Amino acid sequence: MERVIIVGSGPAGLTASLYAARADLKPLCIEGWQPLGLLMTTTEVENFPGFPEGVMGPELMMKMREQAEKFGTRFVTENASKLDLSGDVKKVWVGETLYESRTVILATGASSVKVGIPSEEEYLYGKGISTCATCDGAFYKKLVVAVIGGGDSAMEEANFLTNFASKVYLIHRREEFRASRIMVDCVKANPKIELVTPYTIEEFVGDGKLLKSIRVKHAQTGELRTLELDGAFVAIGHKPNTELFSDQVELDEKGYVKCQGRSQKTSTPGVFAAGDLQDTTYKQAITSAGSGCVAALDAQHYLEHHGW
Ligand code: NAP
Repeated sequence: MERVIIVGSGPAGLTASLYAARADLKPLCIEGWQPLGLLMTTTEVENFPGFPEGVMGPELMMKMREQAEKFGTRFVTENASKLDLSGDVKKVWVGETLYESRTVILATGASSVKVGIPSEEEYLYGKGISTCATCDGAFYKKLVVAVIGGGDSAMEEANFLTNFASKVYLIHRREEFRASRIMVDCVKANPKIELVTPYTIEEFVGDGKLLKSIRVKHAQTGELRTLELDGAFVAIGHKPNTELFSDQVELDEKGYVKCQGRSQKTSTPGVFAAGDLQDTTYKQAITSAGSGCVAALDAQHYLEHHGW
């Protein structure tokens, strides 16, 4: 019988693992087959305290994992496939293998949102449309690409892609940007980036094998434009990864886990949630890590209260 199982290994899952390990709870972290969360798909992180020179996202995550392991966290590098969170004994399946635990900390994070038009599916992943500039940017050396979105992710990706691409269109549905001022200024000052606003995506057009252009529509006038390009990066936000346990803890209308008050307790006793899957507002690596710490402390108090 485990005392704590953590599902997920981004900043929330690894911080929960670290705190649970240091409380001598010998946690088991189901880290997933693509572990360490969304920071693995980013470049320089300049706003995580303790790194005045900045740190690369993957390096930060590998250090977090190392630290959690150093104090006794055990890792399973596969996805949890099924959960039963009812009762005093929580059940977590990884394929055919069943793990049982007194508490579970859910930290499965969030995934990229798609534009949601049929032609997007046709060219997604390997055919010209990507959701990760860090992963795929280098394939577009001296080529033309577009980034879709108006948040910090879109700004970051557009800037990053100018390291490779000869030109980057930044397509956004409004004139105003949600991204922070400093990131927008950086994009506007970059001569390789052309702003295409306010335009929505009408269609991704290709030859059946590769993306060749995007048809965009002016949000006010309805004017249509075709942008010839080689790649498109969708950066329009994320949705919480809560399908696996959507009927077992209370979720809000957008699918985020609801936590109680200032705690990380879910509606199900012995089940805690941390990170992007329960954060509708802040969504930062540091706030995720903070909630992972709280979740582990909450789990520890729950175990003590029950004498486990
Ligand atoms: P976000 O802030 O939610 O921005 C999403 C953007 O996509 C918005 O501009 C939105 O447009 C647009 N959008 C949403 N659905 C769309 C659709 N169907 N079609 C076209 N456009 C659509 O998401 P994010 O940029 O991924 O950032 C998430 C969080 O991470 C934020 O808190 C951000 O500050 C943080 N972040 C920080 C950094 C950093 O500090 N280095 C880097 C990346 C992300 P509207 O504005 O019109 O709604």
